[in-house]
Amino acid sequence: PKRRDGIVIDDNWSGYSLDLFSYPSHYAGDLDCVIVPHGVIMDRTERLARDIMDDLGNKDIVVLCVLKGGYQFSADLVDKIKVLSCNSNRTIPMRVHFIRLKSYMNDKATEDLHIVGAEDLSFLTGKNVLIVEAIVGTGKTMKTLLKHVEAFKPNMIKVAGLLVKRVAQNSPWLPDYVGFQIPNRFVVGYALDYNEYFRDLNHICIISESGKLKYKV
Ligand code: 5GP
Repeated sequence: PKRRDGIVIDDNWSGYSLDLFSYPSHYAGDLDCVIVPHGVIMDRTERLARDIMDDLGNKDIVVLCVLKGGYQFSADLVDKIKVLSCNSNRTIPMRVHFIRLKSYMNDKATEDLHIVGAEDLSFLTGKNVLIVEAIVGTGKTMKTLLKHVEAFKPNMIKVAGLLVKRVAQNSPWLPDYVGFQIPNRFVVGYALDYNEYFRDLNHICIISESGKLKYKV
């Protein structure tokens, strides 16, 4: 695999048993396995920060964090870029902006995608934009968002996606910076939720069937 592909997690990888890690006991029974442990997320994010620094060093960027799921990844990625900026000759002056997208109910995408807080992005005109998103599934959400951002004529748009799911149909659209490619299962943790639960879990895990039932709306 090329560097661009990120870490590819195979469909038949059964994950780590939850018994091998610590996690909040209020989620006991709600999870099948750990698919990406928190430490591995941090290590991969550190390298993504370096790749971003190599490509964009000395450019001003606006980090566009896609809420809510992207808050943890954005915060950690920005932290790692800050450390690199302190310790090398090249730096990346960063601004951070938040937009909120909402498209999921239970584990199914809903038809209407709402962009909250993106009314006026005219300050992006002529800027270098780094969109930071926790997970890309079909890519529909990202395509909608990209079209919206492009309309404000930024100088450049790059996308960092921590996770990309291998969805069956069509060839995957890949962000410029990919953390992991994962099987097409519903994942939670590291700020990714299921009906607002599991954001307070630091590993990326696969939710169990009983977990889905318990937190169904
Ligand atoms: P897409 O439009 O690419 O199919 O879906 C992207 C959006 O769906 C993401 O922004 C994310 O909010 C949500 N999403 C897709 N797959 C998952 C998943 O496995 N877990 C969680 N928590 N959200 C997901």
